[in-house]
Amino acid sequence: MPHRVLVIEDDGFLRENLIRLLEQYQYEAVGVGNAAAAIRALAETEYHLIVLDLGLPDADGFDVCRRIRQKWRTPILMLTARTDSMDKVIGLELGADDYLTKPFEPKELLARVRALLRRAYEYQSEPSQETTRCFGEIVIDYARRQVLVRGQPISLTRREYDLLAYLTQNANRVIPREQLFEQVWGYSIEFSSNTLDVYMYRLRKKIERDPDQPQHLITHRSYGYEFRIA
Ligand code: CA
Repeated sequence: MPHRVLVIEDDGFLRENLIRLLEQYQYEAVGVGNAAAAIRALAETEYHLIVLDLGLPDADGFDVCRRIRQKWRTPILMLTARTDSMDKVIGLELGADDYLTKPFEPKELLARVRALLRRAYEYQSEPSQETTRCFGEIVIDYARRQVLVRGQPISLTRREYDLLAYLTQNANRVIPREQLFEQVWGYSIEFSSNTLDVYMYRLRKKIERDPDQPQHLITHRSYGYEFRIA
């Protein structure tokens, strides 16, 4: 059965182009032009992926993202015309799984769609690792995908967790940016050069005592990242 994608985009021309592109690659695509229609569509039919334009006529895209997340776990790919990276941080905090800045190449969109669907629906059947590991004040239960920081459970998005899990499973090793990105996102970093930095910024805020003086999540400038255990 093909994966079903809901395209939420008020620009009719772009919406039709997105639908045509997705259908060309064997996805089933349905388009809506505003937030109210999007919520109705989601309530009526099961979708596997949501492509959400941040600029909608009847609601703020961030608000739509939040409303979707209150009810559904469907992966969300956010489209934004804004280049402000804080927008991306906010969107990702609200539960979007990835973002793409307009204008974008069709192959960029398809790479992200494929990667999000693979993450969400194909990896689930993999056997989980039955281990809990302790990294000083950070404890990770890989079987349950839970993280404790200084005794408190913290809330991570799927991608934040995947990133932290990969880094900790390779603790005290410097991982090149390209490798880290491909392992966690499933596509090449050339399409998305600052996504990784945005995620590292968010992870530091969640696990470091002082995000400006990180003890664990170490940057190796222009090379990669390391999860360091003292
Ligand atoms: Ca728009």
